[in-house]
Amino acid sequence: MDVRLEEFDVVIVGAGGAGLAAAVHTGMAKLKTAVISEVFPTRSHTVSAQGGINAALANMDEDYWIWHMYDTVKGSDYIGDQDAIEFFTKNAPKAIIELEHWGMPFSRTEKGQVYQRAFGGQTRNFGESIAHRACAVADRSGHALLHTLFERTLRPDIAPYVSYYSEYYALKLMMDENNKPMGVVAWDMVNGGIHIFFAYAVIFATGGNTRNFRTNTNAHVNTGIGWTLCAKAGIPIKDPEFVQFHPTGIYGVGNLITEGVRGEGGYLINANGERFMKKYAPHVLDLASRDVVSRGMATEIREGRGVGPKKDHLLLKLDHLGKDFIMDKLPGIWELAYKFVGVDCTKDPIPVQPTAHYHMGGIPTNVKGEVVVWEGDKEVPIPGLYAAGECACPSLHGANRLGCNSLLDLVITGKEAGNNAAKYILEEKPVFPNPPEDYVADKYAKDVIDKLNELFDGPEGSVKMDEIWEDLRDTMQHNMSVFRIEEGLKEQMKIIDGYFEKFKNVGLTDKSKVFNTELVEYFDLESLLYVSKLETAAALNRTESRGAHYRDDYPERDDENWLKHTVAYLKEDGSVELDYKPVRMKPLTAPTFPPKKRVY
Ligand SMILES: Cc1cc2nc3c(=O)[nH]c(=O)nc-3n(C[C@H](O)[C@H](O)[C@H](O)COP(=O)(O)OP(=O)(O)OC[C@H]3O[C@@H](n4cnc5c(N)ncnc54)[C@H](O)[C@@H]3O)c2cc1C
Repeated sequence: MDVRLEEFDVVIVGAGGAGLAAAVHTGMAKLKTAVISEVFPTRSHTVSAQGGINAALANMDEDYWIWHMYDTVKGSDYIGDQDAIEFFTKNAPKAIIELEHWGMPFSRTEKGQVYQRAFGGQTRNFGESIAHRACAVADRSGHALLHTLFERTLRPDIAPYVSYYSEYYALKLMMDENNKPMGVVAWDMVNGGIHIFFAYAVIFATGGNTRNFRTNTNAHVNTGIGWTLCAKAGIPIKDPEFVQFHPTGIYGVGNLITEGVRGEGGYLINANGERFMKKYAPHVLDLASRDVVSRGMATEIREGRGVGPKKDHLLLKLDHLGKDFIMDKLPGIWELAYKFVGVDCTKDPIPVQPTAHYHMGGIPTNVKGEVVVWEGDKEVPIPGLYAAGECACPSLHGANRLGCNSLLDLVITGKEAGNNAAKYILEEKPVFPNPPEDYVADKYAKDVIDKLNELFDGPEGSVKMDEIWEDLRDTMQHNMSVFRIEEGLKEQMKIIDGYFEKFKNVGLTDKSKVFNTELVEYFDLESLLYVSKLETAAALNRTESRGAHYRDDYPERDDENWLKHTVAYLKEDGSVELDYKPVRMKPLTAPTFPPKKRVY
């Protein structure tokens, strides 16, 4: 096995919005930074974000961060930490202005200000009327954001410090004897061979992980490797049961139709042509938060009012907005609907269904991007370890994320992780505890090298990976969907254990070391099995309904017993151990928003 070793100050795993935001700041601090990514940075999934990024800029109508904060707390179904939510919503306008100064080409109002659109769950004056808070670049906001950040890392004062390793697959987080990170072991996908990145600080920014569901909006690379590598290193995953189903994935394929369509005046109809959201959210209709709209849709389908031969989806109508408006504000949506289902949405409605989209939980962090573990109920940062973006959980989104709060999350957590990693290295001057000659591949990457040798030299295996992949997606879609119930969740736990047994008999049929996609799929599948197990175990234990986690057998929210975060540990024998930690109800300066019934 070809093995290379390199030393950096910081290694960032993931080159999406979060990873690049972090790289901008470690680069500005002149720290030698490696950014490793399974794909070229601008192919990361942030590129597909459509609708926008929230900030109370008040460009369209009166707005304040405290209104944004209230909406986010309510959207989280009161399980988001209120100090974190204040931090993000208060800092949002500054983050947008910084992006604008860096050249992000926002759509403009007639006055030349950043254009802002309505989005689900975003209101003015604590629920009184709909807010226009999502700062948009037509329906290509993520594309513009990712390119702006990437360009920033190419500036002459930053570029010399940031080295990109595209098409490298992270396989292990190395921790030293004192439980501090020492770097990352990766597979060089193009040339074959192991690459060990030693570093004083590691930042995970590996994005989402809903590829374990049959219909999902995620890219192939979003397989939860950040969760898996941290969980294997003993770090718990926070709130893994909260998987967001976006109301409007294109029927059968899953590609996302942004909530921005409803923000601009589109609406959902059932087989009777009825605008059914008036039953489920009488005040804001289609602009309720995502969990509410997805449940409304799933109820319509369950009660026989779905459309199509199988009555298993609904329709999103936007033709009434007019062709000129659609082509100006939603051109990417027109293209997606036309290319994927042959619908010209200036004339006909788009077939849609709730689709696995986003993960509210993740690697536990504080708002500085530091990964935390717990001593009793006290959060304790792990020096040198950070996480940002969708793979992380600073408790901004709680049980349900509001649309356009994720780009906000990644811009701020990326910056915080980058800055705090820099501060740690420059101020605390960490050293590795052993002499340099001790840092050899044999010691820190032996398990990875042995595993790879076993795969390359071993049998082709009696089980085909596809069997597990396909089945996993169907069963997760069935048992861990918008509606969940004890029998289904118990069954899913058994099914996942069965997949792990089968996985032992999976081998590689392709033994080549150069761009071996079968090898990548092997580790993707292993990761998604762990992710599925963490999610399902936590969902089975939470006997209430909150946000995206809806239990048919426990349909009410139960604040007395369940106003708490899950922390899920992956044990060495593959089992999951669950613990619970308090929600921080006290904001930094604002008054607490106490739990109320969520009505939209
Ligand atoms: C279609 C769509 C539309 C959306 N629209 C919006 C929106 O309008 N507003 C909003 O706020 N949010 C939106 N979201 C959510 C938001 O876009 C994502 O949550 C966010 O972009 C995730 O960014 P990230 O940097 O955390 O991860 P990503 O951009 O997904 O990047 C992950 C990175 O990790 C790397 N990686 C993964 N695994 C490995 C591995 N094993 N080894 C090495 N590297 C690895 C990948 O190569 C990639 O570089 C949307 C999401 C989707 C799917």
